[in-house]
Amino acid sequence: MARPVIAIVGRPNVGKSTIFNRIVGDRLAIVEDKPGVTRDRLYGTGEWNGIAFNIVDTGGIEIDGEDEIMKSVRMQAELAIEEADVIIFMADAKAGLTHSDEEVGQMLFRSRKPIVLAINKVDNAGRMDEVYEFYGLGFGEPIAISGSHGMGIGDLLDAAVSKLPEIEDVEYEDDVIRVALIGRPNVGKSSLVNALLGEERVIVSNVAGTTRDAIDTPFERDGQKYVLIDTAGMRKRGKVYESTEKYSVMRAMKAIERADVALILINGEEGIIEQDKHIAGYAHEAGKASIFVVNKWDVVEKDEKTMQAFSQTIRDHFLFMSYAPIVYLSALTKSRLHKLLPVVNHVSEQHALRIQTHLLNDIVGDAVAYNPPPTDKGKRLKINYVTQVATKPPTIVIFVNEPEMMHFSYERYLENKIRAAFNFEGTPLRLFTRRKS
Ligand code: GDP
Ligand code: GDP
Repeated sequence: MARPVIAIVGRPNVGKSTIFNRIVGDRLAIVEDKPGVTRDRLYGTGEWNGIAFNIVDTGGIEIDGEDEIMKSVRMQAELAIEEADVIIFMADAKAGLTHSDEEVGQMLFRSRKPIVLAINKVDNAGRMDEVYEFYGLGFGEPIAISGSHGMGIGDLLDAAVSKLPEIEDVEYEDDVIRVALIGRPNVGKSSLVNALLGEERVIVSNVAGTTRDAIDTPFERDGQKYVLIDTAGMRKRGKVYESTEKYSVMRAMKAIERADVALILINGEEGIIEQDKHIAGYAHEAGKASIFVVNKWDVVEKDEKTMQAFSQTIRDHFLFMSYAPIVYLSALTKSRLHKLLPVVNHVSEQHALRIQTHLLNDIVGDAVAYNPPPTDKGKRLKINYVTQVATKPPTIVIFVNEPEMMHFSYERYLENKIRAAFNFEGTPLRLFTRRKS
């Protein structure tokens, strides 16, 4: 379900990314183990007092031109005001209260969003005095923190989490496939929404998706119900603002979380860029079924090898998502559009697939007999049994004698064997190794 968003806003060098990393730190280590998953994080997840949230460090928005720092901080603040549920406004005790802190403070104040004021670099109690001047910003008691020492971060999270709203989400019946269209600006998301709906007369109505302005459009085709979770229809601002990667990534994240199937749009005319990888990586990490949709295929000059070559490029760029099928189409001319929904149905089924324990154990047993698990200092990893514990995404637990002996490469081998037997096309698989002798 949709998790609330906490954004960190503040001038460059106050310590935003230091604090961001402290909050999401442990979690990243897990996902970054996987080859091909990008390391340049914009967005992370955290949990505090049992409440899960997304957190974004809005820093690093680059703008050219004069007064660029102030402009970029203003942009961060706008982004946070629009997208976040709680804003951590960070300043620097060493630098003291600056004019730009005051200016951004005023913007944030006017927004009426819940704000937590954090004063970083309070590395020792002697600096507490320096915190008081920040009272003047009007956000109540500043929370003194030190990113270097990891101090005050618990207090900061207490304050931020206590201000998070309850997020209401629309519930859909289990037989409805929730589809998110994601991709960078101009890739053709709105056009694809229109193309899909244009062919379809049975549009029920638009549903205001969440308390946060997502537009859900339900429709039905050939007896299957869908709801399109539209990020494209939500834009309010100009292209410059929108093309900042953080903006589109935040939007994409929100849609991905609420979806079963992510359509990752790629611009067939321009090819793949880094931003596509970030967006695809989030769908993967969120455990959603995914399809690469190569749009604008009408304008690509092609011969009989073009599609295969493009598919190879996608495979090379998205090593960690070799399970995702690729569909080529044109949202504009609607050519090949009819191919899309059958693939959506298929990956959605695979995402919800549940394999019986005895079938799984037969396959894993054969895989182990063919290629035995690693040994270490005379000890051998022993796989006792395997069972699927969840769907969406399919999640499989491998019970073994010594979990720390399970290597990534062996897990990958088992995953490949499981996929070879049961397919699971379009969906990530989650494998966990647990001790049970
Ligand atoms: P950002 O630009 O706001 O993301 O700031 P960074 O996280 O990159 O930090 C800027 C600089 O401040 C780095 O050199 C950090 O090591 C330093 N820094 C971060 N937190 C603290 C702190 O609590 N105390 C001190 N003394 N330095 C810090
Ligand atoms: P969004 O920002 O991802 O929602 O992209 P839009 O749907 O607004 O499309 C951006 C531009 O690409 C518009 O000018 C569309 O007409 C154009 N476009 C979208 N799909 C196609 C397509 O399949 N072929 C061509 N040639 N242009 C397209």
